[in-house]
Amino acid sequence: MDICELRIPRAEYDMIQSYMEENKPYEACGVLIGTIDGVIVEVEKALPIKNVKRTNKSFEFDPTEHFTAWNEAEKNGKGIVGIYHTHPASFAVPSLWDIETMENDLSVWLIAGTDGMRAYTWEKGVKSIQIRKY
Ligand SMILES: [Zn+2]
Repeated sequence: MDICELRIPRAEYDMIQSYMEENKPYEACGVLIGTIDGVIVEVEKALPIKNVKRTNKSFEFDPTEHFTAWNEAEKNGKGIVGIYHTHPASFAVPSLWDIETMENDLSVWLIAGTDGMRAYTWEKGVKSIQIRKY
């Protein structure tokens, strides 16, 4: 089934926003932990992961932190349902690098940019999905 909506607690949404500010001018990134219920991705927590790249053009998770996050999620019966990263100096639209990477990582992508946040999945191409804060 195709994912069509991402639900995220307001506090987590705000956290990503301030995390973007803190890490300027570099991109910041992390994982979204939660569950998938049919066509809806239910985010419980947005967990920051160090961007080992330190650039404003792309990101790469610190492998140890990424593994720890995955482990923690599993232990609590959850999973990593998506990833997020920031565009501190551009819109929340996937860059060419993002699109190429998305094709190999079919989870939900949340991007925070200067114009707010947008979420995407891959369905024979980049598809935008709705974000609902709660
Ligand atoms: Zn990007």
